[in-house]
Amino acid sequence: MKKLIAGNWKMNGSVEMTQDLLSEINSEIDGDLLDKCGFLVFPPALYVTEAFKNAGTYIDVGVQDCSHNESGAYTGEISAAMIKDCGASHVLLGHSERRQYHNETDELVCTKAKLAFDNGLIAVICIGETEEQRDNGKAFDVVEKQLAASVPESANAENTIIAYEPVWAIGTGKTASAADVAEMHSFIRGKLGERFSDSENFYILYGGSMKPENAGELLATPNVNGGLIGGASLKADQFLAIAKAAP
Ligand code: PEP
Repeated sequence: MKKLIAGNWKMNGSVEMTQDLLSEINSEIDGDLLDKCGFLVFPPALYVTEAFKNAGTYIDVGVQDCSHNESGAYTGEISAAMIKDCGASHVLLGHSERRQYHNETDELVCTKAKLAFDNGLIAVICIGETEEQRDNGKAFDVVEKQLAASVPESANAENTIIAYEPVWAIGTGKTASAADVAEMHSFIRGKLGERFSDSENFYILYGGSMKPENAGELLATPNVNGGLIGGASLKADQFLAIAKAAP
C-alpha cells in the first residue's frame, strides 16, 4: 500500500499560490516518490479549477466539504454532484474545524458521506478526540462513536478514507507519539473490521502537526497509510519532504 500524502489548505491561498505551489510540487514528483506515495490536495473550492491546471497527472484534487443537501435553495453551499462535475475525486468531511465552528455532528457527516458516494466521490472522513477527552481517558470511546456514526454502512475501502486527527494536535505543533498513533490506528482498523469485509484495505491517515521532522516515524507506524497535512502542505518543500520521509 502506497502512503497517501494529502494536503488540507484550509482557507489559505490565492490563484497565484495555487499555481506556484502545485507546479512546484508537480515538478518534483518523480518515479521514486511515486513508487511509495500518492498525492492529494484540498484547496479552497474556488481554486479547484486552477488546481487542475497545475496539478499534473499525479496529484489528485478534492474539496474541503460538501452540502448535506442534494441541490436547491441552499445559498452558499456546494453539492457533491458539483464537486464531481468539476472533476474533483475526493471530499474532506467532518474535519474538526467543521465540527467545532459549524456544529457538524456525526449524523450530518454520515449524510454528506452518502451523498459523496452517490456521486462517485471518495470521502475522507475525519475523526479524533479533544485534549480534554484524551486526558479523561475517553479518546477510544470518542473515536469509536465517531467512527460508528460518521461512516455509512455503504462505506468500503474504495469510497472511504479515514483520517485520525487528534484535535489537540491540529495546528498546535503538538504531535501524538508514535506509540499513541499506533494504538489508535490499530483500534480503528479493528473497529472497521467489525463492519467491513475489506477493512484491511482502508486507508487510515494520521493528521496533526505532521512535519518533515516527524513524518518518517509517523508514516512508518503500523496502520498509518499516509498523512493529512495542514500547515506544512502550504509549502512545497515541506510537503515534498514529508513524502520523501515515507518509508
Ligand atoms: C489539518 O488541518 O487537518 C491538520 C492536520 O493541520 P496541521 O497539519 O496544521 O496540524
